[in-house]
Amino acid sequence: MAAYDLAIVGGGIAGLGVFEAAGRAGLKAVLIERGAPGRETTAVTSGLLHGGLRYLPYDVGTSWLMCREIERLRTESPGLLTRQEFLWPVYRGEGLRLGLIEALHDEYDLFAAMRGARRHERLSAAEAVARLPGLREKGLLGAVSFDEWRVDVPRLVDALARSGSDAGGDLLEGRRVASFAVRGGRVAAARLDDGGEVEARVFVNAAGPWAEEVARLAGASMVRLRLRKGVHLVIPGAPPPRGLIFPGPGGRRVGVYPRKGETWVGPTDEPHDGPPGKACVQAQEQEDLRRALALVLPELAARPCRAVMGLRPIPRRSGAAFLLSREHRIFDHAAEGLPNLLTLAGGKLTTYRPMGEDVLAVVLKKLGRASPVPAPALEEAGMPWPLIRAGGLAASAGLLSFYAVRRAVLGAR
Ligand SMILES: Cc1cc2nc3c(=O)[nH]c(=O)nc-3n(C[C@H](O)[C@H](O)[C@H](O)COP(=O)(O)OP(=O)(O)OC[C@H]3O[C@@H](n4cnc5c(N)ncnc54)[C@H](O)[C@@H]3O)c2cc1C
Repeated sequence: MAAYDLAIVGGGIAGLGVFEAAGRAGLKAVLIERGAPGRETTAVTSGLLHGGLRYLPYDVGTSWLMCREIERLRTESPGLLTRQEFLWPVYRGEGLRLGLIEALHDEYDLFAAMRGARRHERLSAAEAVARLPGLREKGLLGAVSFDEWRVDVPRLVDALARSGSDAGGDLLEGRRVASFAVRGGRVAAARLDDGGEVEARVFVNAAGPWAEEVARLAGASMVRLRLRKGVHLVIPGAPPPRGLIFPGPGGRRVGVYPRKGETWVGPTDEPHDGPPGKACVQAQEQEDLRRALALVLPELAARPCRAVMGLRPIPRRSGAAFLLSREHRIFDHAAEGLPNLLTLAGGKLTTYRPMGEDVLAVVLKKLGRASPVPAPALEEAGMPWPLIRAGGLAASAGLLSFYAVRRAVLGAR
């Protein structure tokens, strides 16, 4: 009889979400992390619980899910969150019209009450500079102000680890899964680099960017990720009083995030091919971000800074990179002869709880226990993803067009 019901490999936000959910369901769980929990990708995110403004034009479902989670965390753990106001300035010649940005925010405002945000405001150039001193005034046409939430990531990581441990789970820190023992067509144990073995009835691979590698240790090959590198500049010293959204390298919008006495600027979003361990910040990426920042906040850009980077572990689906959904995906390795191994990939800091619950529902099914939540594994039910994507895209485009036309023709709010 295995010592554990469930063994989770990887203690980032994804693995911790599963660990917490398993504890709540009364499972005997163990989480194996080769370093310290939350110190890899999870530590270098922007630390925002955002409502998915970026996804609205093509993935309104992800935006809705993210707003629902913000509402829940605000209610259950308000101390972890801080309101963060952002300005989105628009300059002459940028090609983007304030009216269109406002139309996007009209759509975002549909979720404002849900995520405890104020409705957006349109600011004149003078009002924008008054709110964010140092903002370049030349060519500034105006700005849109809106709210998001910042989360204290180390405290969230600690809270999830404690919750799983208090429920009877074991956390093995500084222990790397080096291989798996596969016996009788099942994963019997995870073999650790110190020679130890962890036996469990079900295994969940939540190794983030390393999920493909960890799946291969069990002889599984169905996990396919597209890794996308995100670089942030970190600027010590007093941060600006508000956040800012601006066109980063290549025109992609990036942010300025005041954060614990520092300012984070980014992240970029570029493909990374090759093993995760080979990823690093290129001097050119750092310089490109700094130059883009200098066009909006020149004084901040002149300060000395360092750079950090992380890899987004996005499950592969066909479609243009910018249309890749940030939804999580559960790979059930039963399809390749390993019925007690699952891989969780993708997802957001903001959606750690639905990720954990979705995995838990599949784990409980495999353990033959009743599930407290409806099984959500849409992938496994063979849902027609291209059609769902096309439907979501059409719905998002329809809403955006509606608000754009209303704003342009009727001038209505
Ligand atoms: C730059 C950037 C900014 C982001 N900003 C936001 C944001 O503001 N808001 C938001 O909602 N989302 C954001 N995200 C997305 C999301 O937060 C991350 O994708 C998420 O944190 C990834 O977590 P993870 O648990 O999957 O991976 P990780 O945090 O990397 O966790 C995986 C863990 O597995 C461990 N591991 C690997 N191999 C082994 C092994 N063999 N044995 C044991 N342990 C192993 C690693 O040590 C690591 O701790 C951002 C992502 C990036 C890259």
